Amino acid sequence: MHNIDIDLVEMTLDVMKYAIGRITNTNPELGIPKKEEELKKLVGETITPEGIGGEQAFKLWREVLVKATVPIDHPRHLAFVPASPTRAAVMFDLVTSASSIHGAYWMEGAGGIFAENQAMEWLVSLTGMPQGAFGVFTSGGTAANLSAMVTAREYWRSLDSTNAQRKGLMITSIGAHSSIKAMARVIDTDILLIDTEDILSGDRLAEVINELPNEERERLFAVVATGGTTNAGIIDDLNGIAKVCGKEHIWFHVDAAYGGGALAADSVRHLFNGIEHADSVTIDPHKWLFSPYDCGAVIYRNPELAKKAHSQEGSYLDIFKDEGAHGFNPSDYQIQLTRRVRGLPLWFSLAMHGTDRYKQAIERGIELAQIAGKMIESHPELELVRDPSLSCVLFRRKGWTPEDYTHWTYTNHQEGFALVTPTKWKQGATYETVSRFCFINPDTTEADIEAILKTML
Ligand SMILES: *Cc1c(COP(=O)(O)O)cnc(C)c1O
Repeated sequence: MHNIDIDLVEMTLDVMKYAIGRITNTNPELGIPKKEEELKKLVGETITPEGIGGEQAFKLWREVLVKATVPIDHPRHLAFVPASPTRAAVMFDLVTSASSIHGAYWMEGAGGIFAENQAMEWLVSLTGMPQGAFGVFTSGGTAANLSAMVTAREYWRSLDSTNAQRKGLMITSIGAHSSIKAMARVIDTDILLIDTEDILSGDRLAEVINELPNEERERLFAVVATGGTTNAGIIDDLNGIAKVCGKEHIWFHVDAAYGGGALAADSVRHLFNGIEHADSVTIDPHKWLFSPYDCGAVIYRNPELAKKAHSQEGSYLDIFKDEGAHGFNPSDYQIQLTRRVRGLPLWFSLAMHGTDRYKQAIERGIELAQIAGKMIESHPELELVRDPSLSCVLFRRKGWTPEDYTHWTYTNHQEGFALVTPTKWKQGATYETVSRFCFINPDTTEADIEAILKTML
């Protein structure tokens, strides 16, 4: 036993040292994926009856495995939607694990859930949704969207018994995130995609609804608008769409998984006007609210409807006599039962830094997109595809083929310099391959942007 204790102390120190080193390093090595066979050759068999020991396992992690991962918080990682968790949030993620809290029920998680809910109150306040609106932290935007869609569908079915026999129909645009389509399959619902990657207007939505045959109109139960498309940062006409949904009595969901952080940014808040009318909203703190993976959130105008759809009604909960045991049960409002108290890292970081620091850090992402836009316009070989929106910039290198973009991405990544990937932008009937920046990390500098652009010239 004595040896085991020493091993444990050493392992703990190693892990803490590594964690501290990692979060204080603002320029981590930009790892590159390797084939499975190659990794297998490098690390061998790690799961054995006797165990290979913490020292050896950790060595394999440091020297091989982590190098085959891409740190999403690298200041020149501008692909997909990057992330940039605060040090406070990462450290509190360790505390969240160490505390071993079952986050499904207030009975066991009260203190942790209370803290999560304080952070949630701030998120809800950003949306301007009315008194009574509230939400819950999920594993991500996909789970948040699914939870909202199930709630919308169950509500629709509760309105009219014939709806239970109908397959539901939702409307969104092709600018919506792939998870909307994927989750529509999960709930066996059809989805009508309006063919625009640009702003979806209320008028366009009304036209599409008006043209629906009767039997289609009868099974339409929800519209999903996007509050910051993942590809281009475009915010749909939320006010216009809210009006149409109100008039037609259709559930109005706003997917702001990426863009939701920008609700805190005064410079762009007006673009989200109308979000306060939503029946449900998705926001991913692990995208633009500086939380470590994974942390999403779903907010409902009327949480009781979510409870009707999701509550697993554990009857054994009633046995607790303790007054304090009765409170908000996160499992009632989304698809997951046993859950990590995954809003805790966000809570600690918000409590430590204050919401003003969050505002500033988010505004910086928007400012970096504007700066990048100006730099692009100043290079004759480069051209903006559209004005930067939120923290996304779409631009083209004149004369480049799709292969040129792929090669450029590959070379910058192989050199450990940057990860910037091309994307496709639809205009009319054609898809064009273009380059894209998405800024999240406030530590990205103007020099970083200039250096990346230089590699295209
Ligand atoms: C990223 C994203 C999602 C999916 O969120 P996950 O956290 O990856 O599950 C959904 N919608 C939008 C708009 C997104 O940007």
